[in-house]
Amino acid sequence: TRVLSGGAGAEERFEEQSLRPQTLNQYIGQDQVKQNLSIFIEAALKREESLDHVLLYGPPGLGKTTMAAVIANEMSAGFRTTSGPAIERPGDLAAVLTALAPGDVLFIDEIHRLPRSIEEVLYPAMEDFCLDIVIGKGPEARSVRLDLPPFTLIGATTRAGALSAPLRDRFGVHSRLEYYTTDQLKEVVLRTADIFGTAIDRDGAEELARRSRGTPRIANRLLKRVRDYAEVRGEGHITLQKANEALELLQVDRLGLDHIDHKLLTTILGRFKGGPVGLDTLAASIGEESTTIEDVYEPYLLQIGFLQRTPRGRIALPGAYEHFHMEVPSP
Ligand code: ATP
Repeated sequence: TRVLSGGAGAEERFEEQSLRPQTLNQYIGQDQVKQNLSIFIEAALKREESLDHVLLYGPPGLGKTTMAAVIANEMSAGFRTTSGPAIERPGDLAAVLTALAPGDVLFIDEIHRLPRSIEEVLYPAMEDFCLDIVIGKGPEARSVRLDLPPFTLIGATTRAGALSAPLRDRFGVHSRLEYYTTDQLKEVVLRTADIFGTAIDRDGAEELARRSRGTPRIANRLLKRVRDYAEVRGEGHITLQKANEALELLQVDRLGLDHIDHKLLTTILGRFKGGPVGLDTLAASIGEESTTIEDVYEPYLLQIGFLQRTPRGRIALPGAYEHFHMEVPSP
C-alpha cells in the first residue's frame, strides 16, 4: 500500500470516523463550497423541506464523505451510506430507498459505478420521490408505484465525467472539492494532533502539510507515521527535525512525491525526452494500469504543474525538469 494514496483502507475508514469534523464551521477549507451549501441548507431548513440533491466530486481523500455527513448533521437529518459497487441489482437500491425516513440524507459513494439499469430506478426516486417496481414476469408483469419519503441524495464521485448526463442533471447542486492549500492542511494536521493528544511544533505541522499532496487523508496518515517515529526515536514530540527524518524514511520528498511519481516523471523526462507520450505507452513502460495513472498519480502532478495532458499525450513541464535538476530544453 502506498503511503501517499488518496484512497482509504477499510481499517483506516473506521479510524477516520473519530477525526471527521461535524459542522460546516469545523470543516477546514473548501470555502466556496461551504458558503454555497450553508445558504442552500438554511433556505431548505426555513422552508422545512429536504435539501436538493447534491453531487460532490473531486479526487479521493479530499473530504466528500465528511462533507456529506456534515450536511446531514447541519440539516439534523439521518445519514445513510452506501456505494455504487455495493448496489448490484435494482432490488438492492429499492431496499435502501424504502428504508429511508423523511428528510434522511442518502450518501452514495462512487456513484459513477452504478449500473445504468439501476440508475433508471433512481430517476423517479430523485425527481418525484417514488419508486416504480415491476412485479411478476412475462404477460403477468405489472408496474407498481411506491411513494418514498422526501430525502436528499448526495452522490460522490472522483470522475464527474463518468456520470451519465441524465443522472448528473438530476442533482440540483454540483460542488467540486479542490486540493487544500498548505495552510489549510496545517490546520488539519494541528487539529488531528490535538485529537490524538500528540505534541507537534507548528513548523513540523507545516512540513507535513507541504508534503501531503493537498489531501487531508494523506496529511492524517503522514501524521500517524511521523508520530510513530517521534515516539520511537524521541519523546513523542514532533519537531521539524523529527518530521523531516520520518518523511525521509518514508521516501516522501519535499513536494510530497514518492518513488512511483519519480518513476513516472523520470520515464517521461528520460526515455520519452519530455513527451508527448501516450497514456498507454507510459503505463506499459512503468508497469501500471492506465486508469491508475489517470485517476491516482496524475491529478496531483497536473495540479502542481509538472505534467500537461495534450491530445498527443503527456508532456513534462519546466517544473518537473527543475525538480530533478535537469535542464529545460529550449522550444
Ligand atoms: P473518498 O473519496 O476516498 O471516499 P473522501 O473525499 O470521501 O474520500 P473523507 O473520507 O471524507 O474523504 O476524508 C478523509 C479524511 O480526511 C478523514 O479522516 C477526514 O476526517 C479528513 N478530512 C477531510 N476533509 C477534512 C476537513 N475539511 N477538515 C478536517 N479533516 C478533514
